[in-house]
Amino acid sequence: MIRSRFSWKLTAGLLLPILISAAIVGGLSIRSMEEDSREEVRRSLAAQATLLRNVAAARLGQPQESVLKREVRSLGEEIGTRLTVIDAEGLVLADSQEDPSSMDNLASRPEIMAVRSHGSGIATRYSHELGASVMHLALPIEADGRLLGYARASRSLSEINRRLTRLGTVVAVGAALAILAATVLGMVLARNFVKPVKAMTAVAEGMARGDYNRRLPATGTDELGDLARALNQTAKSSQNRMETIITDRNKLLSLLKGMVEGVVAVDRDERVLQMNSAAGKILGASPETSVSKPIWEVTRISQVCDILSRTLRSGRDVKDELRLATRSQDQVVEMLASPLLDGEGELVGAVVVLHDVSDLHRLQTVRRDFVANASHELKTPIAAIRALVETVIDDQSMRSSDQAHFLARIRNQSMRLSSLVADLLTLSRLESSPGGPELRPIDLRESFKGAVQALLPTGEDRGIAVHTEVPENPVQVLGDPEALGQLTTNLLDNAIKYTGRGGHVWVRLKTGNGQAVIEVQDTGMGIAPQDQSRVFERFYRVDKARSRELGGTGLGLSIVKHIAAIHQGRVFVESTPGIGSTFRASLPIAPLGSVHKNTTL
Ligand code: ADP
Repeated sequence: MIRSRFSWKLTAGLLLPILISAAIVGGLSIRSMEEDSREEVRRSLAAQATLLRNVAAARLGQPQESVLKREVRSLGEEIGTRLTVIDAEGLVLADSQEDPSSMDNLASRPEIMAVRSHGSGIATRYSHELGASVMHLALPIEADGRLLGYARASRSLSEINRRLTRLGTVVAVGAALAILAATVLGMVLARNFVKPVKAMTAVAEGMARGDYNRRLPATGTDELGDLARALNQTAKSSQNRMETIITDRNKLLSLLKGMVEGVVAVDRDERVLQMNSAAGKILGASPETSVSKPIWEVTRISQVCDILSRTLRSGRDVKDELRLATRSQDQVVEMLASPLLDGEGELVGAVVVLHDVSDLHRLQTVRRDFVANASHELKTPIAAIRALVETVIDDQSMRSSDQAHFLARIRNQSMRLSSLVADLLTLSRLESSPGGPELRPIDLRESFKGAVQALLPTGEDRGIAVHTEVPENPVQVLGDPEALGQLTTNLLDNAIKYTGRGGHVWVRLKTGNGQAVIEVQDTGMGIAPQDQSRVFERFYRVDKARSRELGGTGLGLSIVKHIAAIHQGRVFVESTPGIGSTFRASLPIAPLGSVHKNTTL
């Protein structure tokens, strides 16, 4: 049996009215019964006193007083009431129960005194002899308007008391039974009421803890049933809402995780709420261990702490740029901090997005430099041509041999201009299409041989022995034949340019480890170690004057690198000054499945 506080209250609530009504009803009925009984006794005493008065009036003043005594005694015994006849002075003349001579004078008794003043008297007092209250009623005995004495009838009220006690017992037993019934009823009611309430409490407490899976058996049609259904509905909608929130949160977290931009959210006390791995990388912190720590404890980059503090103070978006000098390169990070507001628009924190724009900056710098370099490279031959042409025009009397010399120099400059424009166009062609030139399955030997053939005469002119090695089997790659021909041309052209007369150049096409390798080795001047990593940069030349003299543009190797990259390949250089250089471009061999049916192989 469930003995809850509620069941005690319910039992008490049932008992209290029962006790009060039992007390009121019992009290009222006992009182009314007492009054009725007293009235009844009074009436009967009045009748008996009247009878006694009549009997005594006839005998008083007569000589046979003993007759009176006998009559009074027998009458009293007959009617079961004590009868007393008293003379006008209060002396007892006859009594139905005692000898009159042994009795006191009764003149001072209240009922006797009342007869004198009111014509009749009644008094109730406790009798030690009887151990009970006794009601006395006295009437005057008169003859011819003269008071002869008093007739008094007395009766013990013990019977009334017994009746009252009986009634009290009945009331008490009734009340006790009612209390018992109320207690049992209270328990049964409490069990029926408290059990579902306890179940509802458990569900509500579960919800408070975040457990929304509990449901109540909502079968009843009463208010408790309605409440259970409402609670079930609340649990269900809370569960749905919670699931939506969790799904949204997970989406947001995976979004944050996958973001390239760093994101850090802090609360009002600048403690980290959320940090993604991109932010962790920039700030040099671990996102997992940073949560709940103050941001200034997590990172040493004061600008990030500063922008968050400013946003928290102002409640507005704040933008700033962060420059970090890392070991390898300078890092430029754009920071945008915004306030975090709750549902009521109250400021609860701030979030900063860190956008690493270093690559963009570098690209911009490269482009700026490229435009400056290209303009400069173009300006030089144009200025030279202009000056030469003006000289020829101005000097009408110039000898024809000088004129021929000037024209030859103009031709050289214009050729330089043309190869520069050609290289720039090649670069632009390679960069213009979004995914680079369209790659198709080809036999690399074709474009390789074509490029080598075209340069053999140049090598011969310069007194350089060019040795070619090509595999017998096709070398299948996914590529742009024109671009790959250009790659070979540029490497071989450089080898011929930077190798002196009598030198050797080996140009090889090899395969191995799933790679096709175009290798160009020469016995030329070589490249110093500090320049080797830079020769692939645009417009970088080890010896500017010599390169120009040889018709170089400074773009050849950067084009080679670009073409290799488009084909998922790489370029390498090994060189020893004074001994010679070896340039290699390796490209992945196309797996057989990728070779198109219409292949020309
Ligand atoms: P360039 O048009 O000046 O030849 P490249 O980009 O082709 O421009 O080459 C960049 C620089 O690398 C050249 O100026 C030269 O100094 C050096 N270089 C390239 N190939 C060789 C080589 N085979 N031997 C020595 N130096 C070379």
